[in-house]
Amino acid sequence: MIVVMKEGATQEEIQAVADLLRAKGLGVHISQGEEKTIIGVIGQKERVRELPVESMPAVEKVVPVSNPFKLASRAFHPQDTLVTVGNHVVGSGEPTIIAGPCSVESLEQIIEVAEGVKRSGAHMLRGGAFKPRSSPYSFQGLGETGLQYLAAARERTGLPIVSEIMEIDTLSMMCEYVDVLQIGARNMQNYPLLRAVGKTQKPILLKRGLAATMEEWLMSAEYVLSEGNPNVILCERGIRTFETYTRNTLDLNAVPVVQNLSHLPVIVDPSHGVGKWQFVTAMARAGIAAGANGLIVEVHPNPKEAFSDGDQSLTLESFETMVKEVNRIAQALDTQEVAFAGRH
Ligand code: PEP
Ligand code: MN
Repeated sequence: MIVVMKEGATQEEIQAVADLLRAKGLGVHISQGEEKTIIGVIGQKERVRELPVESMPAVEKVVPVSNPFKLASRAFHPQDTLVTVGNHVVGSGEPTIIAGPCSVESLEQIIEVAEGVKRSGAHMLRGGAFKPRSSPYSFQGLGETGLQYLAAARERTGLPIVSEIMEIDTLSMMCEYVDVLQIGARNMQNYPLLRAVGKTQKPILLKRGLAATMEEWLMSAEYVLSEGNPNVILCERGIRTFETYTRNTLDLNAVPVVQNLSHLPVIVDPSHGVGKWQFVTAMARAGIAAGANGLIVEVHPNPKEAFSDGDQSLTLESFETMVKEVNRIAQALDTQEVAFAGRH
């Protein structure tokens, strides 16, 4: 349920509603919009119905929320969530571009990529130090050394860094090094990990699971939000389908649908989505055209030699072209005032 307060409701009136709900053991989340305040109520709706909330001063209406996700829903938080990373704001209009290798392989490699993608206009550097590999015999990442190399690349370029966390045990170490914690597709339903990162205030890049519905994905975001971390960026990275010519099927439906259901920013990962570098730029353009708030793209100075995901990695040169093309699309959308999700 949500309680919508009238425009101009005073702090005392808002507090009175919140106090009544809390006294009945219900969870309360207050979202102060520009015009109206919305109080999200967590708990059984029968208990809310028993209370005289609708007749309290300055209450406009009590609305049932049918989605199982609450804090992640637009009903709770009508305005778009902006996530600040360094001096870049995700969700602000300009597409966020995150780029870098699948895995951090050496100091030279990560510095070369960081400098190259920065020159082309990337806002953040990605690189895995702990890699979730299908085979235990494949390269597993450089671990903490990889994080140190990423930190050196940030020092050199000023680009904030994004890296995947796989285990709760590494949380405090990861938080020392990275600016954004990535939760990979395979861990989207690792609920203890989601709760743990929810207890920090680090921005979380939450990838969609390989076979997750949009609702399951938003419920995972709900885990993070419900622990008190509002800084969640969703990432569509393709789902498993019967198709075998591509690694996954990039579900661009998810961009407008999830933006309509939720206030959280949604970015697209065309690299894992399609799995072949030849098609990454086309799907990056499509993601931005669909209204995504940004992209995360794998880039390697020499993809043939990459320790992981070389087949889907762009070279620095092709990445430069990709950025120019997606920016042209973003500008065209900006000037034509295209109707985005939920807006007509
Ligand atoms: C990655 O970003 O390299 C990665 C492993 O992604 P995903 O979790 O989407 O497979
Ligand atoms: Mn990868």
